[in-house]
Amino acid sequence: MTQFSERILNTPASFIREILKVIQQDDIISFAGGLPNPVSFPKEELKQSMERVIDQFGDEVFQYSSTEGYRPLREWVAERYRDEYGMDVQADDVLITTGSQQALDLMGKVLINPGDALAIEEPGYLGAIQAFTVFEPDFCPVPLLDDGIDLDRLEQILEERNVKLLYTVPNFQNPTGLTYSVEKRKALCALLNRYSAYLIEDDPYGQLKFEGEVLPYIGSFGLKKSVLFGTISKIITPGMRLGWICTKDRELMQHLVTAKQAADLHSNIFAQYAVYDYLMNHELNEHIGKIKTLYKEQSDAMLQAMKDFFPDTVTYTMPKGGMFVWGSLPEGESSLELFDRAMKEKVAFVPGNPFYVDDQKPVPTFRLNYTNSEPEVIREGIRRLGRLMESY
Ligand code: PMP
Repeated sequence: MTQFSERILNTPASFIREILKVIQQDDIISFAGGLPNPVSFPKEELKQSMERVIDQFGDEVFQYSSTEGYRPLREWVAERYRDEYGMDVQADDVLITTGSQQALDLMGKVLINPGDALAIEEPGYLGAIQAFTVFEPDFCPVPLLDDGIDLDRLEQILEERNVKLLYTVPNFQNPTGLTYSVEKRKALCALLNRYSAYLIEDDPYGQLKFEGEVLPYIGSFGLKKSVLFGTISKIITPGMRLGWICTKDRELMQHLVTAKQAADLHSNIFAQYAVYDYLMNHELNEHIGKIKTLYKEQSDAMLQAMKDFFPDTVTYTMPKGGMFVWGSLPEGESSLELFDRAMKEKVAFVPGNPFYVDDQKPVPTFRLNYTNSEPEVIREGIRRLGRLMESY
């Protein structure tokens, strides 16, 4: 008999983190990770901010602090939602978390009893599947179409089950790179308002839109049970582990704060001070602009190479922001098999399996990340993959 809980025994280790261990040899071209490009980290600026907050605030930055987070940072988050999205958000609606990953854990703790229905996009973010699995929900996967979640299927599930939570990544989704259309956002908001499910919009990539204005959140069309996640991971640095939950639902917020107290008392307060100081002394949108230019160049290189080297039978998404492209081999093929062959050619990517709630069945899909290689390396990696696909 094992001493370990069923909860943890039934939660798989992240497939991607396992792959990343295998591919840490220098000569592998990796499209497998989901890491921001380190050249985008504002290292010097953050170093100055760290020194400045120590000089300015002394003991405060090393002391225990409040669970909700550093007030000025919460105010900054609220102001950004007001300025960039025209939303009515106040600092009290914002809870600073240890990355969005903790936000997933807290929402699971607060809402999910074993067996509760939890709707999630299929394919969906692997880290969310993992975080929620700990709470033993009954996952209800809803297909993700080119313009967002399949509303007919979702409505059917909402009718059949008492769904507690719908988890979405509406902008440049991980893993597909797909974005919900504005029409779909409005229709989803109207649909959800007829039921009691909370909606999570997890949005690490929305600001990385290569061109044009950011899109309005589903919650901003008047959704009663709206929960937004944000993070600095893809726009400043993931290592500081700072994100937030934004909701106007007071009761939910109260429970989230209690759950967070129980989990870690509060997120790293030194990091919160330093990031706030960074934000006060630099133009974030300028910094984001540089990241977008970099990623667009890499994404263009990948899409052009796919056009040149992939057989016509292989389809793929054309993301206009974010970090990922999602491909599909012809029906019946296994991307896991392609992965094994690609590794021999020293190219890595993530087979689609871990992004499905039922990850045992073979799938033809795969995820490619373009943010971590130079354009000419991307081209060479895609050329090798294309050659393998042609040889099928
Ligand atoms: N949600 C999604 C959709 C992500 O892609 C990621 C990062 N890979 C996270 C959450 C976790 O982000 P954080 O670093 O803020 O915990």
